[in-house]
Formats: sequence, C-alpha cells, structure tokens
Amino acid sequence: MLVDDILQKAREEKRTVLTEIEAKQILGEAGIPCTDTRLAGDKAQAAALGRTMGFPVVLKISSVDITHKSDAGGVKVGLKDAAAVETAYDDIMASCTAKHPGARIEGISVQAMADAGTEVIVGMTKDPSFGPVLMFGLGGIFVEVLKDVAFRIVPIERSDAAEMIGEIKGKRLLEGYRGQDAADLPCLEDMLLKLSALVEGTEGIAEIDMNPVFAYRQGAVVVDARIILDAP
Ligand code: ADP
Ligand code: MG
Repeated sequence: MLVDDILQKAREEKRTVLTEIEAKQILGEAGIPCTDTRLAGDKAQAAALGRTMGFPVVLKISSVDITHKSDAGGVKVGLKDAAAVETAYDDIMASCTAKHPGARIEGISVQAMADAGTEVIVGMTKDPSFGPVLMFGLGGIFVEVLKDVAFRIVPIERSDAAEMIGEIKGKRLLEGYRGQDAADLPCLEDMLLKLSALVEGTEGIAEIDMNPVFAYRQGAVVVDARIILDAP
C-alpha cells in the first residue's frame, strides 16, 4: 500500500510534515487529480524531467522545513525550455538556502504546468470536539481576508458536498463571471467526497491542505498540497 508506505517512512524519519510529492501521491491514490510532480536532485535531472513531461513546467523547492515556498523564492512557473529550467533550479536553491539556512532540502520538484482556472481550496483539519472536519472555499483573498469558507464534519455525503459549495458567499465566481468559465461543480463535489473517504480510512493524518486547486469548466486539478501527520 503506497499510502501506508509513505506514512511509515515519515514516522521512521520522525517527520510530521509530508513533502508536496508525498502529499500528491496520497491524494492521487485516493482518486483526487493532482499535477504530475516528480523530484529532481540536480538541474540536469530537472531539465530531463521537463523534456519527458513536456514544457512548460513549474519548479518548486522540496523541503519539509519550507512551508511557504513562494515567500522563499521557491516557486518558478511557466518554464518553457531546458535552459529556463536549469536557471530556475539555481535561482530557487540560492534563494531558499539564503532565506532558510539549515533547512533540509531533498531537491526540487518538477511539475506539469496547469492551465489557469478558478482557484479554490479544499482541506481537512481536526476539531478537538468534532474530529476531522472538511473545508471548502475560494482561493487567495477570499479565504485569507474574507474567511469565506464552509465546513462539514467527516464523513460527508454528496448532498453535504453540494451544500458546502453552495453556501460560500463567493459562489457566483464558480457559476461563471465576467467571461470566466463556470467551474465543474460535480467534480469539486467528487473531490470533497474522496477526501472524506481518505480521511475516514486513514489513521494519523492531522491536516490536509490543497491550496490552490484549479477548477475548470470540465475537471479540476490540485496544484499544491500539504499533509501534516498527528504527533507521535
Ligand atoms: P506556496 O508554498 O507558496 O503555497 P504553491 O505551490 O501554492 O506554493 O505555488 C504558488 C502559486 O504558483 C500557486 O498558488 C499557483 O498559482 C502557482 N502554481 C504552483 N504550482 C503550479 C502548477 N503546477 N501549475 C500552475 N501553476 C502553479
Ligand atoms: Mg500553495
């Protein structure tokens, strides 16, 4: 079992934070679509992965000690060829080691570049009295400033998922707004249902954060993911 292997490896290494690659593997196993994301240990390997996956790609620092990758200069998007990938690799390493001296860095992830979509966030946190709770909201300022999010206790049914999406104040943005495509709501409901099943069936997960998920007219994809495990 891939999920058990990942959780066990983290525990052996006394980590409660999973890497983005590990988090996306677990979510992918649960049937939640994530961008293809692979680890490179040096810039030649990153360029080779870019060629295999097809440009443009995104490069991101892979470190359990760096939570806010963009703030550390750890994310470069829209890399169009091998030369751009190699330059980005060096820039990311230089910036992240300067901003986080001593951080454990396993390498840099190379990811398929997802088309722009409507940004949403989907997550799970544990409430001291209710246990695992799912969260859905719109990305960016909607969650950070306006706290426009909906919560439900795990497990949920499809009607709960539809209600969660229906009750956020910014819902109009998901229905198509000023030329922006409407989002695939059944697909977002599926994501919430699959997350509910994953959380119900897996012990030891403290927190899951998919931020952002890009939602499209058809489908949706997780572009950043983070999973925190319960402290031993
Ligand atoms: P952070 O740790 O700063 O949250 P993210 O992985 O969320 O880093 O990346 C920052 C931003 O870069 C995202 O909000 C998204 O807009 C963009 N981004 C990240 N990964 C991808 C990707 N694979 N495809 C397209 N855009 C991406
Ligand atoms: Mg993010």
